[in-house]
Amino acid sequence: MAKPAVVWSPTYEVDIGPHVFPTVKYRMVRERLLADGTIGEGNLVEATPVAEEILARVHTPDYLAKIREDRLTALEQVVLEVPFSPALAHAARVCCGGTLLAGRRALEDGVAVHLGGGFHHAFPEHGEGFCLLNDVAVAAVALIDLGLAERVMVVDLDVHHGNGTAAIFANEPRVFTLSFHQERNYPAVKPPSDLDVGFVDRTGDRAYLSALQAHLPGAAARFRPDVAFYLAGADPYRDDQLGGLSLSLEGLKERDAFVFEALRATDAAVAVTLAGGYAIREADTVLIHATTVEEAIRATP
Ligand SMILES: [Zn+2]
Repeated sequence: MAKPAVVWSPTYEVDIGPHVFPTVKYRMVRERLLADGTIGEGNLVEATPVAEEILARVHTPDYLAKIREDRLTALEQVVLEVPFSPALAHAARVCCGGTLLAGRRALEDGVAVHLGGGFHHAFPEHGEGFCLLNDVAVAAVALIDLGLAERVMVVDLDVHHGNGTAAIFANEPRVFTLSFHQERNYPAVKPPSDLDVGFVDRTGDRAYLSALQAHLPGAAARFRPDVAFYLAGADPYRDDQLGGLSLSLEGLKERDAFVFEALRATDAAVAVTLAGGYAIREADTVLIHATTVEEAIRATP
């Protein structure tokens, strides 16, 4: 079997109508990687929905029942910011399965990629900001439950703060949450992660990368994770519609390379999720995610 595993699902391309969230990106990234030979069909592993009991280790029974029975209130749908549908619910369950599978495969092979996931704004009892279920939290808890990992690190470099993940693991010493984000952006309330770095508007490559160098290797060396989930958001990009930082394409590539280097230096397995990406030109979002996968492959032992 070719390494690394690249987990995907056709279910992620949910029709949400005209929307800033390009659900088409998941297919476009996969097609681009196959077309340019970065990956082959042998890398691809299709995700399957996670069991309800596994979701229930993070999400409340009430919330899961509402999703199952299509009973989200009007207010809950407003906060979610994407139209709810059974297809969206199915995609979210598959996505949790996909991130868990990527975590397992990363523990086997050193690195694995999920062409999806990173829905870090989902809380135990509600979804928000395009995020219905917190796939990374679900996967982290499942790996610990299964005895496959003792310590899990979440390296969240999406431009938005990982509020849901931070809240879920506030009192969980086995999971270390790190969030690099634009301070003056969604979400308004940012529950503390184990390590938060909030950047001022229009922060560029140099300041961002030096903060990453200052914080990530030390945090990883001290915590010694068995596995890290890397939320490789494309939205710190300077032409992002929902982000206000100013990273260049080259800066984002350097970011990815440094994350893999720093985490692999501590022997952590690394499972990648794509997280956000809303560039003015959709092709830029696809390119940024595809470049992350190239760097993941370069880091695969
Ligand atoms: Zn984001």
